[in-house]
Amino acid sequence: MGESDINAVNAILDIHTHKGEEQSGGKAIINYRQLAGTPLQEGYYYSVGIHPWELTPDNLKQQSDFIIEHLPDKRIVAIGEGGLDKLKGASMEIQTAAFMAQMTLSMEYDLPLILHNVRMTDKILAVKKQFRPGQPWIWHGFRGKPEQAEQLQGKGLYLSFGEFYSDEAMRAVSDDRLFLETDESSLDIEELLYRAARVRGVGVETLRETIRRNIQNVFFRA
Ligand SMILES: [Zn+2]
Repeated sequence: MGESDINAVNAILDIHTHKGEEQSGGKAIINYRQLAGTPLQEGYYYSVGIHPWELTPDNLKQQSDFIIEHLPDKRIVAIGEGGLDKLKGASMEIQTAAFMAQMTLSMEYDLPLILHNVRMTDKILAVKKQFRPGQPWIWHGFRGKPEQAEQLQGKGLYLSFGEFYSDEAMRAVSDDRLFLETDESSLDIEELLYRAARVRGVGVETLRETIRRNIQNVFFRA
């Protein structure tokens, strides 16, 4: 990595956003909207996946091929967001096929997986137990209870918190399992960092270092 790459990595605090490149201020891993078809930009990092809401029986192959074609690009540092959504999106059969494809790519390319999960926790944990991927899985937009946070980190998952969450759950996550994200929020990641620090009862700069260390360990492992 060159010096400019190192500076770009050090600026990242937000592991998941749907903001555009400029709006992200270079502080985020951008969820690439592959159906929009815009090229990846220099100086930014991305996750690329198949969102269950954007999935149809007709575009699964197209989206999978796109990911495979772009995965050698070093700007792509994670697969996702992808996962299972009981309430919205394609049929569960197709969602499952897309999820399994993304898990396989995560394993083949040794990239972390950013998970979208709506009421499908048991199924996702069963898949994880069956295939035992060595790559980090990050449950994004976590809004569950503290008991669930403890259960999930006990199973090796990372939890990423956005604008809305249970304060008790935020406090239940250990330092080395925690991420922050703007996702669809219009708030700045600095505001979310400030809030999270207050909830956890730590200094803002201490938490910033914690999050940076986790980002380095999970998304930018040498
Ligand atoms: Zn998202």
